[in-house]
Amino acid sequence: MSTESQSQIALMEKIVSLCKRRGFIYQSSEIYGGCGGVWDYGPLGAELKRNLRTAWWNAMMREREDVLGLDASILMNPAIWKASGHVDTFADLMRECSLTNKRVRADHVEPQDGVVMKYHGAQAPNGWRWERAITALLKNGEHIESFRKRVRSLIAQNAGAAAGKPEEIELLGEEKIDAVNGSIDFHPETGGLLGEPRPFNLMLKTYLGPTATEDDVTYLRPETAQAIFAQFKNVFDSSRVKVPFGIGQIGKAFRNEVTPKNFTFRSREFEQMELEFFIKPDEAVEIISGEVAQWHEGADLSQPQPNWGWQMWHRYWVAERTKFYEGIGLGDVLEYYWQTADDLAHYARACVDILCEFPFGTEELEGIAARGDFDLSQHQAHSSKSQEVFDEELKTAAAKLTDEQKEALIQKRLAAEQAKTKGEPMPEAEVRAWFDRLFKGNYIPHVIEPSAGLDRMALAVIAKAFSETEKVDDKGKKEVITVLRLHPRVAPIKVGVFPLLKNKPELVAKAREVYALLKKHMNCFYDETASIGRRYARQDEAGTPFGVTIDFETLGEKGPELADTVTLRHRDSGEQERVKISDLLGKLLPLVS
Ligand code: ATP
Repeated sequence: MSTESQSQIALMEKIVSLCKRRGFIYQSSEIYGGCGGVWDYGPLGAELKRNLRTAWWNAMMREREDVLGLDASILMNPAIWKASGHVDTFADLMRECSLTNKRVRADHVEPQDGVVMKYHGAQAPNGWRWERAITALLKNGEHIESFRKRVRSLIAQNAGAAAGKPEEIELLGEEKIDAVNGSIDFHPETGGLLGEPRPFNLMLKTYLGPTATEDDVTYLRPETAQAIFAQFKNVFDSSRVKVPFGIGQIGKAFRNEVTPKNFTFRSREFEQMELEFFIKPDEAVEIISGEVAQWHEGADLSQPQPNWGWQMWHRYWVAERTKFYEGIGLGDVLEYYWQTADDLAHYARACVDILCEFPFGTEELEGIAARGDFDLSQHQAHSSKSQEVFDEELKTAAAKLTDEQKEALIQKRLAAEQAKTKGEPMPEAEVRAWFDRLFKGNYIPHVIEPSAGLDRMALAVIAKAFSETEKVDDKGKKEVITVLRLHPRVAPIKVGVFPLLKNKPELVAKAREVYALLKKHMNCFYDETASIGRRYARQDEAGTPFGVTIDFETLGEKGPELADTVTLRHRDSGEQERVKISDLLGKLLPLVS
């Protein structure tokens, strides 16, 4: 293992340990040995997530006029998952270890080097026998005896009590088959030969209703987006909105990930923050505005324009989401992966993954896809309920087109259908029927989907904020201090409030006063135990950006001009300034919200 990957693992271990120690994230069901791929957020984690949710909700909805919120149920009619394609295609390819039946995602197997070893079976002194071929990888650098021990213990785990003690299992007919380099055919943990890749549906099944038969099967939603599509018409009809507009939602999603890993990064239960932003089809934009703006490097994306088609809207949302990440302190660790034509689903026009640097690599934080009208069309087809909107402006503009202009639009679309490299081109009769409806002002909106994961975002900000510094403590001893440099907007505790001494009732009373004043507006923490340095260090580790100390100056003992002032300490710069208590709120509020 390279020293770089060793230090990445060490860093991740430190982050996981800090998260547990300070109450950010705990393993679910820890006292019973955990629950694979499921995590609980402790007091600080719950505040951090809440701040991220609020930041998203405000940026995507409150501060805009064109996005509305939704809070839909986790359980839905299973017909939704049939229509969306999840029942048939929401699967990862997985491979199973022939020794242990442990599964791994086919694309998560790292290449390995070693010698392929084979046995024709195994037996134990108690008469137990395993009549099946065992193939496993003796990894480069592994001693043959420790390899045999590993294989025996894996077989024992698989066979259960029947096989007796692992050390008594006899491996039969050992053969060295082949040396391999960069093989992806062995389980990364067990070393057992992997079976062929098979699709594995990631949806978690459950039963709705008391009979629990196959007729009652439904799923815990694997994404929040489908509820937005299923409620599109209700929101549209009840909110007097016009396309373009969006519907956003934050909520739990569940996926039976084959290999949950990297702490909370790939969990089985997680939270998504998704926006479906509905736009006019480009043809409607062209009819109304006479043109569709083309994106180019440096294009002005600051204000949406009526002549924007899907491409400009897509770029706009990438820019908006980037601004969002900058606002929570992740600006400088982002990368973008523009999916290639091969990567894209047949209905998608473009998709960019916003990636973030984690200690275990640069991985996806959010996907922003231009999905055409696929989702609403699917729901229209499966539910037989129209998902079209009527657009008066479009109808009026179309009425002014000549027959030649209309035919030119149709021909352009037919040519585009023929040029498709994925999926079937829409037959001409359907294209003409679609234009008939469009010229009358009716269409199914297209959609741009920025889809972010809250848990990944929380992990990203923690990982980005994690830093260690060396300090000399009160007794002159060197120690390593962890400082979590969380952005003040997301930090769980905004201000630590400290009386300099706890045995001075005047200091304590004043500190309590300041605490009560601030607490109404932001999450604060009052601490009077230990030295002031230790108290600062505790808050540094929790990511608290500001500290307020009430000292003798505050009481006016060092001159009346300093009475009712406090020391305001800034975590990142270490700067300390004197601030009047009456100015504190005005100073802190803009920094933390
Ligand atoms: P990946 O390729 O990493 O499995 P995905 O492309 O399947 O992710 P989407 O279906 O686009 O993910 O989901 C949108 C967002 O939801 C992701 O960008 C991610 O932030 C979050 N997300 C998806 N799966 C998980 C998971 N198992 N655990 C935590 N967050 C997840």
